[in-house]
Amino acid sequence: MDYREVEGGREFVARLDHGRDWREQIEAFAADEGIDAAFFFGLGAVQDAEIYFYDQQEQEYYPVAFDEPFEVAACVGNISHLEGEPFAHTHAVLSREDGSTVAGHLNRATTFAGELYVREFDTHLERAHDETTDLDLWPL
Ligand code: ZN
Repeated sequence: MDYREVEGGREFVARLDHGRDWREQIEAFAADEGIDAAFFFGLGAVQDAEIYFYDQQEQEYYPVAFDEPFEVAACVGNISHLEGEPFAHTHAVLSREDGSTVAGHLNRATTFAGELYVREFDTHLERAHDETTDLDLWPL
């Protein structure tokens, strides 16, 4: 396990905009505030969702799209840089009226309503290609 000690930076609470993409507005916020590294938690509701599933054998992401409303029962993610741009690595558990869930790596979702807590760190995290997994990971 590679690691780095980090100092805590600013903290934010945010209300996500109705009708905008969940992840894109987190990335726009990070760019506006100059956030280079952070973790966040969120909750709320979305009108649709696209989850990416990473096939570990094929080392490819496969999208699964859902055109239905969900509660965002839990959303956790982090912000770092990918190819020089803020990237919000976002995972979510989304629930339906009957309580069933879909979950995973959230690529895209139209926000109905959302609330976010963001904890910045005073460091710069830039993702780099990892040979073993073929993913863009943190070189710590
Ligand atoms: Zn992921």
